[in-house]
Amino acid sequence: MILLTGGAGYIGSHTCVELQEANYDIVIADNLSNSHIESIDRIYEITGKRPAFYDTDLLDGEGLNAIFEENQIEAVIHFGGLKAVGESVAEPLKYYRNNIAGTVNLLEVMKQHNVKNLVFSSSATVYGDPHSVPIQEHFALTATNPYGRTKLMIEEMLKDLYHADPEWSISILRYFNPVGAHESGLIGEDPNGIPNNLFPFIAQVAIGSRSCLHIFGDDYPTADGTGVRDYIHVMDLANGHVKALEKNLYSTGTDAYNLGTGIGYSVLQMVRAFEKVNQVGIPYKVMSRRQGDIAECYADSSKANSELNWYATRGISQMCRDAWNWQVKNPSGYKSHAFS
Ligand code: NAD
Ligand code: UDP
Repeated sequence: MILLTGGAGYIGSHTCVELQEANYDIVIADNLSNSHIESIDRIYEITGKRPAFYDTDLLDGEGLNAIFEENQIEAVIHFGGLKAVGESVAEPLKYYRNNIAGTVNLLEVMKQHNVKNLVFSSSATVYGDPHSVPIQEHFALTATNPYGRTKLMIEEMLKDLYHADPEWSISILRYFNPVGAHESGLIGEDPNGIPNNLFPFIAQVAIGSRSCLHIFGDDYPTADGTGVRDYIHVMDLANGHVKALEKNLYSTGTDAYNLGTGIGYSVLQMVRAFEKVNQVGIPYKVMSRRQGDIAECYADSSKANSELNWYATRGISQMCRDAWNWQVKNPSGYKSHAFS
């Protein structure tokens, strides 16, 4: 069995589908602080298999221990954590307690049960403002906000753990910008309140629940002045976890991998692509830059290509189509159907 912490969330639920389709049995531990129980029913609808679900907080060591007592866990994929940059600046201790203390708890319980196989959700944010692009794994690491610092600290913690005990097998996956949804439109990204991220914001403007997109800056040193990012389809990202898990099951060590497409698109290019693919209009206004944003960020994913045999196969048209399909079928996210 594979334990997914945070498996009811956006990336975790897509990874659960991908793992079940590769014949893994899944246990999910999630406190539903940023997700909906409905996602578990949707996973079942897609795959015909229901993952075991525990409404458990990572801060609850006894609860975690019970999961390991009741299930034969072979490996853990650790998605569970808070991820809103702005909130982390306003409430740093909440982030340190949840993300750092939660991870320490998890690792302690894993160690007690002799489960030493982990895939961890890190982020391209650990590169801060990179000195050049595309970004390679050996580039300098830094943090620009408490959320990013939790990712960096956990990466360091995992390296220490491996150095103390080389039986561990740890893959650190540094995600670029995950977007889109499963092609069924049954699972997708369901942010609480006003979306921080570009894609859910665009989709909410397209469906009419927000009047206009605010583009944060058009004076960056990029081709059209708007910020450039490496958007990656969430199903490609999900597949990266299957590949990392397979590597972990057959080797020990600790390694970090960039998961991106290697192609950077600007905000305006994404808006235009979304409009064209889905035949919708996205009114927008250019605003000043968002504090902490960088001009350009895209991955060199050749290490994941060669060592994990992982490749991103879906392009931006599919990202736009699948994001819209999810939005249209679930105009208010999982709430749209939960009580129907
Ligand atoms: P998400 O919020 O949809 O999923 C995270 C899940 O963790 C949620 O279901 C939430 O309820 C759960 N969770 C949070 N704290 C918990 C706790 N203490 N105990 C149990 N469950 C808890 O986010 P996501 O986009 O699916 O991200 C998954 C992971 O990937 C996170 O660690 C995030 O930091 C990381 N990541 C996300 C992105 C992105 O853009 N989405 C980019 C880079 C890295
Ligand atoms: N962005 C924007 N308007 C929004 C949200 C984001 O113009 O409402 C821009 C942001 O400045 C960045 C890109 O879109 O250039 C991606 O931002 P997102 O928050 O999705 O991801 P980030 O790379 O910042 O983690």
